[in-house]
Amino acid sequence: MDFRTYSIPMRTRFRGLENRQGMLAEGPAGWAEFSPFPEYDHVASLPWLQAAMEAATKPWPEPVRDRVPINGIVPAVGGGADAVRIAAESGCATIKLKVAEAGETLEHDVERVAAIRDALPHVLIRIDANGAWSVKDAIKAIKKLDQVAGGLEYVEQPCATVEDLALVRRKVDVPIAADESIRRAADPFRVRDLDAADIAILKVQPLGGVRACLRIAEQIGMPVTVSSAVETSIGLAASVALAAALPELQYACGIGTAHLLTADVVVHPLKPVGGCLPVTRPELDEQAYAKVAASDEVDERWQARLKHVQESL
Ligand SMILES: [Mg+2]
Repeated sequence: MDFRTYSIPMRTRFRGLENRQGMLAEGPAGWAEFSPFPEYDHVASLPWLQAAMEAATKPWPEPVRDRVPINGIVPAVGGGADAVRIAAESGCATIKLKVAEAGETLEHDVERVAAIRDALPHVLIRIDANGAWSVKDAIKAIKKLDQVAGGLEYVEQPCATVEDLALVRRKVDVPIAADESIRRAADPFRVRDLDAADIAILKVQPLGGVRACLRIAEQIGMPVTVSSAVETSIGLAASVALAAALPELQYACGIGTAHLLTADVVVHPLKPVGGCLPVTRPELDEQAYAKVAASDEVDERWQARLKHVQESL
């Protein structure tokens, strides 16, 4: 299989990056994406390659739904009016607010949650702290934000460690979702064994593919939802396939992320309509790809990286 490299500017910085880069290849089953984050070594990147190989060589598991509900994303910057505008424009019935941003106060987060609750009385509100709170701050903030929201759907990764998630979970009524705590295949079970979360957030590439995630969902004994690793629509299609095949899907998925990239590699990017993504499998469009093809230098770097990961398969 011939992998080629893309480089697409982000709308706002993501993991400190201005460009999302990765590789795309077509196999007998369709297009596949391999886009481990830059700091991941060949061992950490292995499941990402396994996910790409699955996408290229095996058809997706049979879907049980034809649309996947997704959450809108409100970034941690801006005031209440901005938060309301972004939430309303998303068209989603579930809104995820980023909170606990460095340099921002709890009062600022309270103002944003209150503004959304006031303007959009029927949306579900979940918050995501990206692991930024201490246990003490998390307990205080969650109780306050839950009260202002008239009930939060859940809080995503309030603290950085699994142990701290477990401590917070014992002190608040709001369900806890583990996101950053789940990066490798063994992690979901550690989260479960420590009673650290109520919901497990699964990502296709880091966990080794759609089928690997379905196995985790079957074995973990708690509700799961699906989140993206901010991929092109080729990579997002794998997340859609997972969300479509899960026997139970109680929570909207965090896979409406195509708009975070300034361009895509397909004719019709996987963008939500009416708060849902359709269950489709897009193909690479040569004209769209030509606009985001990486330079020779970047491509050479990725080809060397790919070779290194393939050797450890
Ligand atoms: Mg998160």
